Amino acid sequence: MRTYEHLYINGEWVAPIEPKGSIEVIDSSTEEVMARVAQGGAADTNAAVAAARAAFDTWSQTPPDVRAKYLRDIGAGLMARFGEIAEAISGEVGSPKAFAEMVQTGLSIGDWETYASIVENYEWETTLGNSLIVKEPIGVVGAITPWNYPLYLIVCKIGPALAAGCTIVLKPASLTPLNAIILAEVIHAAGVPAGVFNLVVGSGSEVGTTLATHPDVDMVSFTGSGPVGSQVSKDSADTIKRVGLELGGKSANVILDDADPAAIALGTVFGCMLNSGQTCSALTRVLIPRSREQEFLDAIVAEASQLRLVDPHEAQEDPMALFHCLGPMVSRSQQETVRGYIQKGIDEGATLLLGGPEQPEEFDKGFYVKPTVFAGVTPDMTIAQEEIFGPVLSILTYEDDDDAVRIANGTVFGLGGAVQSGDVERAKSVARRMRTGQVDINGAAFNSLAPFGGYKQSGNTRERGVFGLEEFLETKSLQLP
Ligand code: NAP
Ligand code: MG
Repeated sequence: MRTYEHLYINGEWVAPIEPKGSIEVIDSSTEEVMARVAQGGAADTNAAVAAARAAFDTWSQTPPDVRAKYLRDIGAGLMARFGEIAEAISGEVGSPKAFAEMVQTGLSIGDWETYASIVENYEWETTLGNSLIVKEPIGVVGAITPWNYPLYLIVCKIGPALAAGCTIVLKPASLTPLNAIILAEVIHAAGVPAGVFNLVVGSGSEVGTTLATHPDVDMVSFTGSGPVGSQVSKDSADTIKRVGLELGGKSANVILDDADPAAIALGTVFGCMLNSGQTCSALTRVLIPRSREQEFLDAIVAEASQLRLVDPHEAQEDPMALFHCLGPMVSRSQQETVRGYIQKGIDEGATLLLGGPEQPEEFDKGFYVKPTVFAGVTPDMTIAQEEIFGPVLSILTYEDDDDAVRIANGTVFGLGGAVQSGDVERAKSVARRMRTGQVDINGAAFNSLAPFGGYKQSGNTRERGVFGLEEFLETKSLQLP
């Protein structure tokens, strides 16, 4: 077990100003304490904001190609610690080894090169009539992040914010601070100037609130739950700061009546169950046509039956491990929440086809939940409306394409989505009618350059690629004589 006693502020590892005790980081599969991390509070957050403010003038004026070089060095520094990062995430989140390596760690490393080349090629100035339109970094950014893809969701903010020329105070999720500490060590080793990046581990209610209310923070970039995002907006209102929110979802996977059941099964199950369902854009509602209900149900259940719960620290021989192996939930409380939703699905009359709320037989410890599939779900049921954030798939039937679109759009969310069809043009026309930030057609590949973000109560910002960079920019116009 390791102990971390310091926060990273103004280029140094420092003890918290007022002792707040430490966070115990729990390994999700063993339930043992894997590390203790000192918590900062309001005083540390204020010190970090002051450091970021002081560093802003120089960093914002550092040429973009010099900033790009730092980004590449950070990417290389993370790569050098690949195994250590993946192992930390297998412990603190519970992601199985293959997923922790390929997805959690791999995505978090690859994007540094992406942001480096974006910032090198970005058009910072354009002319419009007699005006010169200038893009500039917004200033000091408070980044508040969740635990499910802890490092990747940090990188989605820190990468473009640093590229833009912003300085940063990061508050990671208290359940998963270890990957953020490694990142801070890497940023320090890359020689990023003091104060440009600061890390304050601590509670959302204290550190997060201090960032949101702080007059010297120009923008808060938040990823997490809707209720906390709403609170962050309110806390930020008095200082009129920009607030970027990436929130939850209840994304629909619309399977049109000309889709091939064998072709859609793997993507349908993985699209919901990845990271044990702890994915904001997970395709948790599967909409199948009444006319071919049984065929699609059979294909989905056959595929879901191949899922198995594993020890996240153990390598799996199975070449399909990435798709078929699930780890535990992140925490006891998440496990209880998810089991509660499964029970609610049963109580409200959905048909349990696989899984259930009980402790899985194969594990007597660890925050495991059985992968669960419900059919006969109706749009008004709780499991069709609320984000469960666990390995629970809800299957609903629809009558025709219009009905499918109506059901797909019938929640407060609008983050992810998918359409499956034998006819890509038909799929595109359904996708265009979906009120959601992204729609994957026929299992198309993940694109880390494509904008990611929510409609409706799923958020108000876009991350990734050039769209992610622009969220951290201000626009100035100079009228020329
Ligand atoms: P959460 O409870 O909202 O926490 C997110 C972050 O906010 C954590 O760092 C948390 O700190 C902090 N926080 C808590 N209270 C705060 C306050 N009053 N002021 C400021 N910050 C505060 O969310 P979570 O449980 O970690 O993550 C799961 C949620 O995130 C799900 O709803 C999921 O859909 C969403 N999510 C969205 C996306 C997306 O891109 N749209 C991506 C991933 C996850 P503590 O950890 O110290 O409580
Ligand atoms: Mg939480």
